[in-house]
Amino acid sequence: MKPVIRIKDKTFERSISSAKILMEVKRMAASINTALADDSPLFLVVLNGAFMFAADLMKEITIPCEVSFVKLASYHGTKTSGNVKELIGLNETISGRTVVVVEDIVDTGITMHRIINSLNTMQPKAIHIATFFHKPDALQKDIQIDFVGMRIPDAFIVGYGLDYDGYGRNLKDIYTLINE
Ligand code: 5GP
Repeated sequence: MKPVIRIKDKTFERSISSAKILMEVKRMAASINTALADDSPLFLVVLNGAFMFAADLMKEITIPCEVSFVKLASYHGTKTSGNVKELIGLNETISGRTVVVVEDIVDTGITMHRIINSLNTMQPKAIHIATFFHKPDALQKDIQIDFVGMRIPDAFIVGYGLDYDGYGRNLKDIYTLINE
């Protein structure tokens, strides 16, 4: 029987072990090291979810690089809409640079699409996407994902940085929601 946990009102069962995750992170890092060896990339880690993946990934990156952290925050302008988000925390100049956006998961792709559009206004040389999880069946946007850890079914997961209502980010394995 798979181990089961309860977070708030929901039940999740363990679906991916931390050993499997670390194996795939190492494989991803190796392909980034090869592909971007001459680019001195700037890794932009999207908080909060990507913090654990980014820590594991960056330990395996051996090429010259910088690491910085950004966040998507609700936009508090004059036209406040619950759905409008802006990228905050970017202190580096990305003009002419190779940027790698580090995300925990690409689901519909709407979030990533927004991030890419925002970064593109700053004239980077190239933007690459590195996401640990990807749900291909849920993708709605036409985005090119260069580096993927694991392709997973379209089901809700927690652990390894991903939360349910704020909880579960600390879990080192991945747990999938059980439909009750
Ligand atoms: P997208 O815009 O691609 O639909 O979704 C991206 C964001 O939705 C992710 O950064 C993540 O915060 C959240 N998300 C998507 N799928 C999952 C999931 O299975 N579990 C959790 N915890 N968050 C998810």
